[in-house]
Amino acid sequence: MTNHALLSPSAANMWFECPASLWLSKDEPDQSSAYAAEGTTAHALAEYCFKFGKQASVLIGMKTAVNDIEVDEEMAEAVQSYVDTVNGIKDSMTTLYVFDIEQRLDFSDLLDLSANINTVNTSYTPKKSFGTADVIILGDGGLQVHDLKYGKGVRVSAENNRQLLIYALAAYYYYSLGCEINKISIHIHQPRLNHYSEFSVTPEDLIAFGKQLKDKAGEAYAVYINGPRKADDFCAGESQCRFCKAAGKCETLAKHVENVIDADFTNLDDEVIEDVNNDEGEALAKKFKAIAMIKSWIKAVETRVQAQLQLGNSVPGFKLVLSRQGNRAWANEEDAENTLKSFRLKQDEMYSRKLISPTQALKVLKGSEIRIKKLEEIITRPEGKPTIVPESDKRPAISPADDFTDLTQEEI
Ligand code: SF4
Repeated sequence: MTNHALLSPSAANMWFECPASLWLSKDEPDQSSAYAAEGTTAHALAEYCFKFGKQASVLIGMKTAVNDIEVDEEMAEAVQSYVDTVNGIKDSMTTLYVFDIEQRLDFSDLLDLSANINTVNTSYTPKKSFGTADVIILGDGGLQVHDLKYGKGVRVSAENNRQLLIYALAAYYYYSLGCEINKISIHIHQPRLNHYSEFSVTPEDLIAFGKQLKDKAGEAYAVYINGPRKADDFCAGESQCRFCKAAGKCETLAKHVENVIDADFTNLDDEVIEDVNNDEGEALAKKFKAIAMIKSWIKAVETRVQAQLQLGNSVPGFKLVLSRQGNRAWANEEDAENTLKSFRLKQDEMYSRKLISPTQALKVLKGSEIRIKKLEEIITRPEGKPTIVPESDKRPAISPADDFTDLTQEEI
């Protein structure tokens, strides 16, 4: 999951939409995050469950081989739900040929970069392009690619998802050498968002996507080697700029944000009144869509300013200081316990007891249906709050009338 290829499938939206993104990101350091590390652990846990047929809960409180992050209950539950879904699909098949986990797929030949680039630096040899599919299932005449996304930030749709289409294409060429494949589907699992998305594509459409992939990869690669030559080598937009490592320094994105704000937020008050009066939902939708991109741009700029200041470079008008100290914690719990005991503190003074949560109680009582039924009578769960999601979301829209009643009551 680390050591990404230059034309990495997970960044496909970026180099598909903005050919200069790879060039501008060339010297930018990899941005590792705690979320990414957590995702790596979750994938390792899933791999362990698939390969050894174990329950994810077996590893709670333990570390996997990939990093120092401990598997916790939330992770075990989410990964188990993903593993169960995929195993269920596999077990329902009449004929199963392949069930591959963490399958590395080389798609260099599909890009054929050396044929595409008109390079100034002729000594440059394209590196291999590869990606790793979480699960590949081949059976009942179909090829399936499954992807676990452990994050709970944004729902990702499988529909025309370029990352998974690249995996599917590479897998299709590889596995179709040995058997006939009539249907192909890609599946995204986001267990922490209770979200599952599936998209089917015909072999013909997948091959047509391959042609587009080759063109786009060639274009991005040529700019990467030779540098940008024309203004539209840069193209800002939500899907491509969100994960671009150069977002904090990119003038095209800064200009784009400025234009969006200028066009949509000048005289905001007047506009909103006018929009509401004229029921101009379109204008509101446009502004709402821009929020995610503006937020990620703000974060990218903040990260860059901090990095520059940490390197000792000047960012006029700003400096780095230490923030407020963090919360107190015991340097060593055992030492702390012994010291407090030596003070002859009472048990109640030394320890705090807390009732277990409903989730923990249900786990403790697993298998005891009568007691669980009794317990469920005393568990409450607040209703979900109205949340804005894209129209493609599978959940049914709530009734506006009910919703407003609830909101009014809440405010009161
Ligand atoms: S920030 Fe956006 S416009 Fe700028 S290089 Fe990256 S993807 Fe392209």
